[in-house]
Amino acid sequence: MTSPLHLRDVPGGDDASAPADGTGAQLNDRFGRHLRDLRISVTDRCNFRCPYCMPAEVFGKDYRFLPRNEILTFEEIARVVRVAAEHGVTKVRLTGGEPLVRQDVERLVAMVSGVKGVDDIALTTNGSALAGKAQALRDAGLTRVTVSLDSVDARVFEAMSGVGAPLGRVLEGLDAAARVGFAPIKVNAVVKRGVNEDGVLDLARFGRERGFVMRFIEYMDVGTTNGWRLEDVVTAAEIVAAIDTRFPLRQLEAQYPGEVARRYRYADGRGEIGVIASVTQPFCQGCTRARLTAEGRLYTCLFATAGHDLRAILRGPSGDGALEALLGRVWRDRTDRYSEERASVTEPRPRVEMSYLGG
Ligand code: SAM
Repeated sequence: MTSPLHLRDVPGGDDASAPADGTGAQLNDRFGRHLRDLRISVTDRCNFRCPYCMPAEVFGKDYRFLPRNEILTFEEIARVVRVAAEHGVTKVRLTGGEPLVRQDVERLVAMVSGVKGVDDIALTTNGSALAGKAQALRDAGLTRVTVSLDSVDARVFEAMSGVGAPLGRVLEGLDAAARVGFAPIKVNAVVKRGVNEDGVLDLARFGRERGFVMRFIEYMDVGTTNGWRLEDVVTAAEIVAAIDTRFPLRQLEAQYPGEVARRYRYADGRGEIGVIASVTQPFCQGCTRARLTAEGRLYTCLFATAGHDLRAILRGPSGDGALEALLGRVWRDRTDRYSEERASVTEPRPRVEMSYLGG
């Protein structure tokens, strides 16, 4: 069981890296966690309707997605990234919704890659449009790509995409990403009981043969529309055990504090896998992530109930000082540790959807 965090006596009191003039300070929250990663949802729309994320019954033709004028422009996003980078953010991940449905997203990649301090720009995609975009993304300065793929069985994949998406399109996207030089490529698979758990070994084999790093994700209780039940969660321990019986695994040390995935290498040297056990082995203690929604609200947890409006500042008369002040206040006050508290939370919370918040 993970030990609880302890509030620091002095909030933000270990800002040892803060310059005397107060600018460019590394931000620490109330548990001493640095702000290091910014996940940016570039759109709340997606061309898939995975039932665990955007069930078609809810996200149907009458669903009201954000209107265009409410979505941050690339210039506004880049401005937030610049301010965040001045306060310690070095990693940016573009997500959604489906980031590749946003037109010219590579232009945003180029803008973010020019921001001083950002040394890692990743993108999480369902891969359906990746074949045609991989080269442009690479040229724009994207450093890493993660492709979501829940099954290599075409029938199961089609069903899990919620729209009958052809598996071949995603496989072509993966091939294209490898061809233009992304490496290593991570492949995310959410494992849901009775849906694709039988395909875990096939996914592991696929990753081994093609040189992709499979990342198996425990089905999470994000949002309120997916009808999550604990019994539908296939635990990371079960996943590791299933793979280990066929392809023996050895656990690896974390590469850095707060690493989300527990990593294992294959004993025969044919690559590695990761498991993301946010339900059974929460990793709130090392969480250094903030999330920016497509409409410019800042969230400090995937399970947060409310965000903070940056768009009003971005579109108002205030300069970057107001952005910095809000970012600093929100991060320093941060006490989120939902995944560790999950078991003791009795009241249902009005959580926001992952497709809105950015996965
Ligand atoms: N559309 C992109 C994609 O498919 O990768 C990016 C957004 S998606 C919300 C990001 C990741 O969140 C995907 O890997 C998806 O499988 C994962 N995800 C969505 N809902 C989830 C849930 N309830 N539990 C665990 N992972 C989930």
